[in-house]
Amino acid sequence: MTTLIWASFALTETGQPVQTDYALCVEGNRITAAGSYADLRARYPEATQVGGHDFFMLPAMTNSHDHGRGLGTLPLGVPDDLLEIWLPGLYSQPGIDRYLLARYEGQLLLRAGVGTTAHSHNPRDWLNMGVEAEATIRGYREAGIRVAFHPPITDQNPLIYAERERFLAGLPSTLQEAAQRFLRPTPLTQQDYFTLCEQLFQQHHDATDHTVHIQVSPAGGQWCSDEVTLAAVDWAKRHNTRIQMHMLETGYQRIYAFKRWGKSFIAHLAEIGVLGPWLTLAHMVWIDATDLPLLAEHGVGVAHNPSSNLRLRSGVAPLPALLEHGIHVGVGLDGQALDDDQDYLRELRLAWTLANRPGADSPTISADLVLQMGTRDGCAITLGSDVPLGRLTPGALADLVLLDWPGVQGVWSSPETPPLDLLLRRASRQQVKHVLVNGEWVVRDGQSTRIDEAEVMSAIRADLKRYDPALLAQSGAAAKALGPYLRRFYATWETDTAPARHFIAA
Ligand SMILES: [Zn+2]
Repeated sequence: MTTLIWASFALTETGQPVQTDYALCVEGNRITAAGSYADLRARYPEATQVGGHDFFMLPAMTNSHDHGRGLGTLPLGVPDDLLEIWLPGLYSQPGIDRYLLARYEGQLLLRAGVGTTAHSHNPRDWLNMGVEAEATIRGYREAGIRVAFHPPITDQNPLIYAERERFLAGLPSTLQEAAQRFLRPTPLTQQDYFTLCEQLFQQHHDATDHTVHIQVSPAGGQWCSDEVTLAAVDWAKRHNTRIQMHMLETGYQRIYAFKRWGKSFIAHLAEIGVLGPWLTLAHMVWIDATDLPLLAEHGVGVAHNPSSNLRLRSGVAPLPALLEHGIHVGVGLDGQALDDDQDYLRELRLAWTLANRPGADSPTISADLVLQMGTRDGCAITLGSDVPLGRLTPGALADLVLLDWPGVQGVWSSPETPPLDLLLRRASRQQVKHVLVNGEWVVRDGQSTRIDEAEVMSAIRADLKRYDPALLAQSGAAAKALGPYLRRFYATWETDTAPARHFIAA
């Protein structure tokens, strides 16, 4: 059966002009033909037609770094703060059923035009991560979204990055026990971790249609020994899959690296053989100018998280410098969108706006380039550059979005207005009408075709009733009480081991 999908405007591939009155043919889960609407209609008179004059067609987008938080963290009692102070609060959140969360998150992202998401798992119970992973993958697949799933591993520096004794010495005796609980190592051994990755890989990794990829994730530079990070590299290479890590999200992480090795994190990872085209690094706010050529030379991908970096007070990543060096960048919501709504188009808008810096000598970052991060390059750093997604050309997997174009145009827009500028400045999830993933309409008229949103919301509310608010408040109290001491610890951390950060030209 052939479906002919058409629109008055189409971004088939970034770097190419926007097409007008353009159509695609889809058979099964692939795009089989593309061209003018008039041509394709004549060639495929029997095809079912979807689309029309009122649509802008673009590839479904890739959310390159996230955690499948579903409800976010703020409504669960963890307000935004400096990352290091915010993180302990996560442990006191209710452990909502993972299957429900993934169903909710999956349809939320699809209705925002996202066809693929990267899920960096935050385990509720490290020793039960296999069960949590199965439930999460099942939920996403039922929603109809592609997922790159990365179970995490950490084996050092919980709570604080170094100088544990100095931190403990600054705590009152009433908080010593609470601090010790946060300082306990995670109970998952390296061997059990890779056994779990192996099981998930055998069960779920789909190298044909790319509905699920299983990847590995030493969770962050400061939280993982070289030994575990190198083992992850080895595992990913042997399984022809990828690694995703949090990296240089905050200035304190950069200082940690200089204290530990007398050089930047990236220089250290290059030296021990971690950098390569298999690696995606999320955040990358606090890179040094000397890191840029290393990242480019090794083909490392970067997941840019502009909202999260603002909300958790990490800063603004030097996106123009990364792009100038030809580094492949994707964009991820990290569960912390500016409006706490997982609106991916708005996240791209923020990335675009922050990237165009003051000064006549600053480069201009085009709407096309930002959309490339949301589509082709985002896919390359999330699923791999050999996966045919992020473009609407024959042979590619059939993942696309039809946007309500009059809704984007508003009262009137001049024919002189570049359509991609208009799209990126104005479009949000409200204009996402129809979404096709893997050849199936998973969103029609702005609604999931697979998940009853009201039903999953009420199931989540019912699940939350299992938790006694008083007990949750009690477990959150320890994290809250440690906050001022963590703040003081970092505020008084000697930072002169790290060189003044080279200014990275905007
Ligand atoms: Zn993250």
